[in-house]
Amino acid sequence: MSVRAERKLLAAIEAGGTKFICAAGYAPDQILQSAQIATTKPRETFAQVTSFFSKAVSAHGEIAAMGVASFGPIDIDPDSATYGSILNTPKPHWTGANFLKELAPFKAPIMIDTDVSGAGIGEAHAGAGKDLRTIAYVTVGTGIGAGVIKDGVPQSGFGHYELGHIRPPRDKNADPYPGRCPFHGDCLEGVASGPAIIERWGASLSDLPAGHVAINLEAEYLSHLALTLILGHMPERIIFGGGVMKAPGLMEQVRRETKALLGDYVQGQHLKGDLSDYIVAPALGDLAGITGAMALAQMALKNAQ
Ligand code: ZN
Repeated sequence: MSVRAERKLLAAIEAGGTKFICAAGYAPDQILQSAQIATTKPRETFAQVTSFFSKAVSAHGEIAAMGVASFGPIDIDPDSATYGSILNTPKPHWTGANFLKELAPFKAPIMIDTDVSGAGIGEAHAGAGKDLRTIAYVTVGTGIGAGVIKDGVPQSGFGHYELGHIRPPRDKNADPYPGRCPFHGDCLEGVASGPAIIERWGASLSDLPAGHVAINLEAEYLSHLALTLILGHMPERIIFGGGVMKAPGLMEQVRRETKALLGDYVQGQHLKGDLSDYIVAPALGDLAGITGAMALAQMALKNAQ
């Protein structure tokens, strides 16, 4: 392929609950321009998104493909009548907002996935998952989500995975907190998300004193997600991101608890030692999401050809 033929303009959106990051460029590492837009009401936000990409088209030519990595829940089944729609979300105004419809004026093929998968694709492409075939990406923040990326492609069934809602074993003497998931109460997200920690202990994990019982409890809960990912997908690495994971000592404790849960049953070079090269922090930081959204645009382009 000639260099000229590769220069197709790609558009990417990392749609978060507080801001949208929009980028236009030729590849994940060749972004020409980008902008941050506040997530207010769909009509207002999409007006600015459309304006940004219209200017990009004026400057660089037509958009060849678009990639969207969005907060969810979102319909990511291309065969569904509501593909690209935000599903029931507690975020006011956004239930039913549809990316496909809003971006239709650009007449470009679009690939849509979750923000969690987007960050996972970014890490698989250029970060902590580079050169590995199967990785899992977990985010522990306002919610808990996990994506599995295989050969650069996010895995899903009829919908995206919802591993944040698994039910870790509970010792109600050690942790009587009932949980805050509106659907399940004490599922993983219900007991281990950032808001659950603050509701329980009045501070974020990073702000609690060293040695606080919360770190151990959090690690125990999260290790069940790591175990589930290993047993179900055998990823070569699990990347744990999100604000809660920045708490000192938490990552190490998750490694120890996961190792204990595995009980030497699953063999493999990746699981040897203290898992310090297996359960890791993201490498791309804030760039993971938009990198992944650009990679989704590349996939949309490839699928359309
Ligand atoms: Zn739940």
